[in-house]
Amino acid sequence: MVDAVQDWSPAEFEKHGAEVLAAIREHFEQIRQVPVSRPYDTRVLLEEFEGPMPDDGEEFTTILAETREKVVPNLVQWNHPSFFGYFPTCASFPGVLAETVTAALNVNTMLWKTSPAGSAVETVVLRWLADLAGYHTDADGLLLGGASLATLFALGAARDAALGPEVREHGLGSAGRLRVYASDQAHSSVEKSVIALGFGARNLVRVPSDAHYRMRPDELDAALRRDLAAGAKPVAVVATVGTTSTGAADDLAALARVTERHGVWLHVDAAYGGFYRACPSLRDRVEDVRVGDSLVVNPQKTLLVPLDSTALFCRREGALAQSFRLVPDYLTSERPAAFDYMDLSPQLGRGFRALKAWWVLRTFGRNGLTAHLERSVEMADALRESAAAHEDWTVVGTTPYPLVCLRYTPKRDGEPLPRHARDQLNAAIAGAVNESGRAFVSHSVLRDGYVIRVAVGNARTTPADVRALWRLLTTTAEAQYADQRF
Ligand SMILES: *Cc1c(COP(=O)(O)O)cnc(C)c1O
Repeated sequence: MVDAVQDWSPAEFEKHGAEVLAAIREHFEQIRQVPVSRPYDTRVLLEEFEGPMPDDGEEFTTILAETREKVVPNLVQWNHPSFFGYFPTCASFPGVLAETVTAALNVNTMLWKTSPAGSAVETVVLRWLADLAGYHTDADGLLLGGASLATLFALGAARDAALGPEVREHGLGSAGRLRVYASDQAHSSVEKSVIALGFGARNLVRVPSDAHYRMRPDELDAALRRDLAAGAKPVAVVATVGTTSTGAADDLAALARVTERHGVWLHVDAAYGGFYRACPSLRDRVEDVRVGDSLVVNPQKTLLVPLDSTALFCRREGALAQSFRLVPDYLTSERPAAFDYMDLSPQLGRGFRALKAWWVLRTFGRNGLTAHLERSVEMADALRESAAAHEDWTVVGTTPYPLVCLRYTPKRDGEPLPRHARDQLNAAIAGAVNESGRAFVSHSVLRDGYVIRVAVGNARTTPADVRALWRLLTTTAEAQYADQRF
């Protein structure tokens, strides 16, 4: 038997660490010069990496070199200033370094006693995040690996609040029809949660949205009344602040009047839009999330914290623990703590996810982060104005956030293109922009067709990058239209 696993010595760690830091520095110094994405062939890419696991350990120099040569170029560069797809997840340097420290310490924050300062920092970070979002700073909360999980757990807690503690013992057998309500624009994670919780996708009631893609409170009220009259059990309403397709924000005050009338839990999915209320210039244009019984926000999307970083809050005191607390003999604490984070979700072992958020929030401060958010909004507004002023382009949707949905709508013989041709043309434009490697956009399909989505939010993006994107979009659109038969 060998004495110990042959890990690197601390000195070797420092040496390789310096190599890695130099590689990261170079990566960021060159990021403007590399393509945002590259065309790939799945089979060829897999072959690149295929092969058995090595029997004997390899030199780190080889591993690092192959990472730089084969892995990095074949990624989509989410840190690129011309990445405008989905929602940006921009990694700031303090966040990147904190990930290394988190891995080095490798503590498990499941119990207060298993990493006291880990739980303490998480508690403070959650309070700061709640404050930035304009939510109750004394709400229960925890950090999770994604908004989808947060919504799943929030709806689990809402279910138990609706059905009472007996459901933990007896399950859903006699619970009847459990219903969840969300607009036709809500994120797919709501439907996934409803499926995972055993309610059945048919029990997700899709409340129609208005012309601006906001949930209609009158339709919600009607749906709740119909269901209650028919003996169904409403579990929760999920409102969205910053929908994925267009960045629409549901009217929370109006929805809260409806949920309060019927005594139904209001979960606010503000994964994208949750922090803009911290910006003085936007305060009056964005929704007040305090009415939510629970709230999910994603620092990984807008606060420069690297993936993954999501916060779930719940102002119904004790509701998360009511659903998820279960303490086996091997996890009791001699000295009762304020609480243990394992009590607030089904997850037991959990990393020290708070450290990177703590570093980032302290490095930039409230003013630094709100300036970043406001700057993104200004750049997006400039793009929106350019597109609105162009006769062949249409801006779709209404949002206070830095998300611009665009559609190329040229006329042919004075007539608009039929929807099918227009959708194909716009998909071809988005595809060609991404293939160029000069920018990256994503898309969505709304009730009136395909749109190109441009989300501004990378810390390295400048107004010149947004202008370059606009030129790329217009020249690509004209070339596609001239070139192909739409
Ligand atoms: C991004 C987003 C989600 C999903 O978030 P994940 O962290 O990727 O699970 C859910 N809802 C909204 C509104 C979002 O913007």
